[in-house]
Amino acid sequence: MKLLVTGGAGYIGSVVAARLLGAGHEVVVLDDLSTGHADAVPGGATFVRGTLREAAAEVLTGAGFDAVLHFAAKSLVGESVEKPGLYWDKNLGETLALLDAMRGAGVGRIVFSSTAATYGEPESTPILETDPTRPTNPYGASKLAIDAALTEFARLYGLGAVSLRYFNVAGALLEEGIALGERHTVETHLVPNVLKVALGEREAVQLFGDDYPTPDGTCVRDYIHVVDLAHAHLLALDACAAGAHQIFNLGSGTGYSVHEVVAVCREVTGHAIPAEMRGRRPGDPAVLVASSDRIRSALGWKPERDLHRMVADAWSFATR
Ligand code: UDP
Repeated sequence: MKLLVTGGAGYIGSVVAARLLGAGHEVVVLDDLSTGHADAVPGGATFVRGTLREAAAEVLTGAGFDAVLHFAAKSLVGESVEKPGLYWDKNLGETLALLDAMRGAGVGRIVFSSTAATYGEPESTPILETDPTRPTNPYGASKLAIDAALTEFARLYGLGAVSLRYFNVAGALLEEGIALGERHTVETHLVPNVLKVALGEREAVQLFGDDYPTPDGTCVRDYIHVVDLAHAHLLALDACAAGAHQIFNLGSGTGYSVHEVVAVCREVTGHAIPAEMRGRRPGDPAVLVASSDRIRSALGWKPERDLHRMVADAWSFATR
């Protein structure tokens, strides 16, 4: 298939683009490099630099694309609270421009990076796709609005759409000649921040709260390896069905606490990794664990790489 990957210079988009190329697809990456890296665009993909608003119509029109995998987004929760307008504009506004361009060019399939942040604070665990969606920040709200738009475009125009709601993604893709992993300029995620201490870039990792109602008092999250996540995108692409918008959680169904993640990082790196306990980070729910039953039964997906492998691959990437 001929595929457009928006945000293909970012962490998840680049890994998925590499996997699509590996599966024999033709890939064009569209990315404005606002947070991505040109050297993360996998060899073999055609790279176009630009925003969706500027470039999507131009890239798609008359070019015979079969589908779009849409990763381009602003994704920092804290920043979204400071600058909600930016998140509505870049996430929802630019996605609407992309959907219009797709319609204009007759491209009928899209796989979209949605997020666990669409659910907000869960009432029960694990989280099902049918649970209430009450995002607690503009990032989650903007992604949920895109899900609503996809439902409308499927109903009105026959679009075939799949939204994948990611839980906590970690790890890297390391293969012959390929090394793709997390290297955000502003790093907020737990695993890379813990590994920065083992790398000697920081004295200690700050842990945000140990007074949550969880077994060891720290927050529990559902971690998924970026390569398992990428595999789900390939399955989702095949599952796009005209006129339907399908939503799937992407997590392992197993939760790990912040202390447990730090312990695995110590084991993998052999470094003591000093930690300093701080207060809660505003907006962090105590437990976020996905039910992945729907994607397991509908698409036959299952995670194959555990937390140890995620940390080991992230560490290999960071020390490559
Ligand atoms: N966390 C932490 N220190 C950090 C980064 C994250 O203690 O430097 C905690 C955070 O409060 C949350 C968990 O680790 O409980 C996962 O956070 P992350 O930002 O990786 O993902 P999120 O669940 O917010 O999407």
